[in-house]
Amino acid sequence: MTGKDALIIGRFQPFHNGHMEVLRRIFDECDHVTVGIGSAQHSHTADNPFTAGERYTMIAETLRDEGHTDFYIVPVEDLNRYALWVSQVVSMCPRFEVVYSNNPFTRRLFYEAGYEVRDSPLFNRGEYTGTEIRRRIREGEEWKHLVPRKVAEVIRRVDGVSRIRQMGESDEPVYRS
Ligand code: ATP
Ligand code: MG
Repeated sequence: MTGKDALIIGRFQPFHNGHMEVLRRIFDECDHVTVGIGSAQHSHTADNPFTAGERYTMIAETLRDEGHTDFYIVPVEDLNRYALWVSQVVSMCPRFEVVYSNNPFTRRLFYEAGYEVRDSPLFNRGEYTGTEIRRRIREGEEWKHLVPRKVAEVIRRVDGVSRIRQMGESDEPVYRS
């Protein structure tokens, strides 16, 4: 324990095993953790299929399933003004001193605002990425082993597989020569 309070922020579309590995490390290193759900206003698109509420449920049920109770989850909407984004996150979240992120944009903005920024190893990044998991779901490949079991349950409850497939379809007619 360092006595520090941590923030991890991501879109979590969906929350996957790589995110959970980072969370395990944060729980080892810090006292409290806030999970910020970024781009909270987005849902029902190919890149952002799940609502903030659905992502909240995925994360909360997974962390409880792993025996954790000491966490906050805060949805944060985009401001589309990068210079104000850190203030936006700070205004929405309980106090934190350390930010965990591998995202260069997030790291830079919090560094400039004076926060301690820590990176974490990338766990099995070939498969533990939201982009790859959404692709597998869309294309009917195996994906459940890449997410915590509670996440697969939430995706089933909200009919997420068919949503992702439908959001991946084009509304343009297919012309054949
Ligand atoms: P997408 O492909 O949709 O961008 P993602 O897997 O990168 O999804 P994000 O929600 O964008 O997930 O990431 C949130 C944070 O988690 C980022 O700092 C990202 O670098 C980190 N992260 C994502 N995947 C891993 C992983 N496999 N190991 C460690 N950290 C990860
Ligand atoms: Mg990402």
